[in-house]
Amino acid sequence: MDAAFFLRWLAAVAAAVDREADHLTELDAAIGDADHGSNLRRGFTAVAAALDADPPGTPGAVLALAGRQLISTVGGASGPLYGTLLRRTGKELGDARRVSVAELGAALRAGVAAVAQLGGSAPGDKTMLDALVPGADALGAPDAAGDPFGAARAAAGEGARATEALRARKGRASYLGERSVGHLDPGASSSALLFATLAEVAR
Ligand code: ADP
Ligand code: MG
Ligand code: MG
Repeated sequence: MDAAFFLRWLAAVAAAVDREADHLTELDAAIGDADHGSNLRRGFTAVAAALDADPPGTPGAVLALAGRQLISTVGGASGPLYGTLLRRTGKELGDARRVSVAELGAALRAGVAAVAQLGGSAPGDKTMLDALVPGADALGAPDAAGDPFGAARAAAGEGARATEALRARKGRASYLGERSVGHLDPGASSSALLFATLAEVAR
């Protein structure tokens, strides 16, 4: 995968976030402050514009620029968290012009670890990590059809769905305590989109 692949991926994420923004904001209205969709729409609109204006030449530089845009344009918790994910993943990829699925998987796992460290959170806390961790762990493990992105997409989607039964221990939803149970976590739902679009772009 080269820089052009990563540019297509982030453009697809921006389109998916735009399409799903109302849904993500509704999820956040139930257990947060009703801004997750608008936060990410603002962030990924800026990402798409910055990448369009001056497309970087390596996968690592594409992700680093995208991460910086998210950090500087999204006020909510998700901006620094997703920004850290992309910046750290990009840093791991270094200045390679092409990266393999296995290399992207290893880099994403480092990026996800940086999110956990910044958020002081772990899987089971009902956050984006409940989709990011299983998704990154499964990246590169081919599914039954031989697709190296299919298992990651399925694992992240399953992780996001499983947040419905969890009680939030981090972020705004944790203020609700037991009342957070029975609702999907908005950040886990947007994280599942990252893996779904990756699988689509790779096809
Ligand atoms: P805010 O909560 O500041 O309004 P958003 O609504 O954009 O920000 O994002 C909320 C999402 O951020 C949550 O659904 C959750 O997935 C994620 N999140 C919040 N706090 C943490 C944390 N400490 N660790 C990991 N993810 C978190
Ligand atoms: Mg919010
Ligand atoms: Mg907010």
